[in-house]
Amino acid sequence: MSERPTIPDELVAKFTEIVGEKNAFLNAADMAPYLTEWRDLYSGSARMVLRPGTTGEVSQILKLANETGTGIVPQGGNTGLVGAQTPFDEKREIVVSLSRMNEIRAIDPDANTLVCDAGTILANIQTAADDADRFFPLSLGAEGSCQIGGNLSTNAGGTGVLAYGNARDMVLGLEVVLANGEIWDGLKTLRKDNTGYDLKQLFVGAEGTLGIITKVALKLFARPRAREVAFVGVKSAEAAVALFRSVIGAEGRNITGFEIMPRIGIDFMLRHIPDTRDPLADPHPWYVLLEISSGDNAETLKARAEDILGDILEAGIGDDVVLANSGSQAKDFWELRTRMSEVQKLEGGSIKHDVSVPVSAIPEFLDRAATAVENCVSGARPVPFGHLGDGNIHYNVSQPVGADRHAYLARWEDMNEAVHGVVASLNGSISAEHGIGILKRDLLPRYKSKVEMKMMHALKKTFDPNGILNPGKLM
Ligand SMILES: Cc1cc2nc3c(=O)[nH]c(=O)nc-3n(C[C@H](O)[C@H](O)[C@H](O)COP(=O)(O)OP(=O)(O)OC[C@H]3O[C@@H](n4cnc5c(N)ncnc54)[C@H](O)[C@@H]3O)c2cc1C
Repeated sequence: MSERPTIPDELVAKFTEIVGEKNAFLNAADMAPYLTEWRDLYSGSARMVLRPGTTGEVSQILKLANETGTGIVPQGGNTGLVGAQTPFDEKREIVVSLSRMNEIRAIDPDANTLVCDAGTILANIQTAADDADRFFPLSLGAEGSCQIGGNLSTNAGGTGVLAYGNARDMVLGLEVVLANGEIWDGLKTLRKDNTGYDLKQLFVGAEGTLGIITKVALKLFARPRAREVAFVGVKSAEAAVALFRSVIGAEGRNITGFEIMPRIGIDFMLRHIPDTRDPLADPHPWYVLLEISSGDNAETLKARAEDILGDILEAGIGDDVVLANSGSQAKDFWELRTRMSEVQKLEGGSIKHDVSVPVSAIPEFLDRAATAVENCVSGARPVPFGHLGDGNIHYNVSQPVGADRHAYLARWEDMNEAVHGVVASLNGSISAEHGIGILKRDLLPRYKSKVEMKMMHALKKTFDPNGILNPGKLM
């Protein structure tokens, strides 16, 4: 942000002193991994990258930044998809990476809680829970590198939302360093605490604009003892929603995955990913990946899953089904879903939308969005897939066959406008789980009401009056 002051050498020396030279990166090679994200969609340059090792160091960094008006970009695992963790391009900001603050501090299997540093990698939390015979259900493609502080700051969703909620629903307490360096110790593990505003939730989904999360207290759950994964071919999105209605009514929270995929996405997978197999003998317009988990033993759950699938066929909701006969086949089914985004790269340009609408409106959304896309770029190929059970569709649109990739991607904003228009008319959200960052910052005021924007600006001003925390992101 050009109005930000440059960061003079003397100030660089003071910041360096806080974390020690070993943890203050100044040269291009050391800083490079923190300045661009994995898709190379966003990149910037920073004056320096700091890697504090304690809450006290984070506090000193923010105090100094606040006194000197220095812009700070908090960064977790750098896997965010909206550019929120990337500095701007003028070397006037400092990236603060939480990656050294990565210890699991406590696990209490009786209370079902886990306390850890904000820089702990999500997969390590899952493993620690598993080792204690418990389950931490937040799960997403980037779990091997994203950090829990980043997950909470983006209110990450992923595949467990249907049964367990978003990241927001899994947090009990936080320790946060405020913009002026003050440390808020809200690291409680209480299930009940009705003492006014729920302050921790203000930092969830705030994308690092209100404070830096340094420690988290999380909910753990009973570990499911058995899991069944089925692949169902359906003739329409309406049938997929009917299927959802039927299984969620019967099984409730035991439905731990309900994902929708279009035939074109399966075709992409078969064409580009070696050894991919179509789970069903004949093609179907749409597919549902259904996962059922429970505390029952494996035989009991298998028998119940077979009954459910039999009922689906009998009622004519599903046209064909297959139940995974092994853990490795279940993994193959899931891979068809989890690799659906990456495979689109191999079909040329892909314009993305991460949207949600009420579940019952999904068929109408898909119909109307397809028309809007065709009107925008004739021949463009929608590949909508995602968490149908949460109403969250990744409405990606691949370029027309043989089109020029560059020219197609130049239509990104027009396409967004066409699809988001349909989303808004159905009372949906233009960002279901990836956040706002830079990508959707300028769209936000168009889809949030004036009152909502006013409240958000008031909060930002209260928590960060000098605007040092992740400047220019989110708002
Ligand atoms: C392959 C892949 C699959 C993905 N799948 C999903 C998915 O299914 N669902 C989903 O929701 N997302 C998904 N994502 C997006 C991404 O993984 C999530 O947004 C994740 O929560 C980001 O965590 P991170 O640690 O990488 O944060 P970063 O990318 O480093 O940062 C994200 C935001 O959080 C802020 N931040 C980070 N740490 C802190 C902290 N300690 N305190 C304050 N602010 C902080 C940053 O400033 C930034 O605004 C996926 C990404 C990839 C690459």
